[in-house]
Amino acid sequence: MKLRVGLGTDIHELVEGRPCILGGIELPHPKGPRGHSDGDAVLHALIDAITGAAGLDDIGTLFPNDDPLWKDADSKALLVEAVALASKKGWYVENADVVISTEGPKIKPHRAEMRASIARLLGVETDAVNVKGKTLEGMTELAGGRAVSVQAVCLMHHR
Ligand code: MG
Repeated sequence: MKLRVGLGTDIHELVEGRPCILGGIELPHPKGPRGHSDGDAVLHALIDAITGAAGLDDIGTLFPNDDPLWKDADSKALLVEAVALASKKGWYVENADVVISTEGPKIKPHRAEMRASIARLLGVETDAVNVKGKTLEGMTELAGGRAVSVQAVCLMHHR
C-alpha cells in the first residue's frame, strides 16, 4: 500500500465578538478566532496536512483569503472540498492527529465531540482522529489566551 504523510499548522488570534469555532464545533468561550473565514484553525491545519500528503496546492492557493467567495466561509465545507480533491487523485485519509495549543477555550471537555466532528468530515472512524489540548504553561505568544495554534498530521493511503 502506498502511504504519504502531510503536516499542517495554523494560528489565529482570539478576539471578542467572534464565535469560538474549532474542529467544526462551537466551544463556549467569550472570544473566537479572527479570520476571513470562520477562522477554524483546526480545520485549516487539517486541510494543509491533507493537501500536503496528496500533493495538492496549499489552503491559501485553493481558497484565497482575499477572495470574497470565502468570506465568512464555513471551514467544514473547505475541508470536505480538500478531501474530495485528494480522493480524485486516489488519496484517502488513514488517520489524523491534532494538537491544539491555547490558553483560551478548554479543549479537554470537547475532545470527544471534536474528534467525531472531524472524523465525519474526513469520512473515517472516530478512533482514526485524535485531538489533544496543550496550554504551553504561559511560555509563548499564546499566553493569556491571545491566540490558538494548531499542528496537524494526516496519513493517507492510495487506492
Ligand atoms: Mg487559518
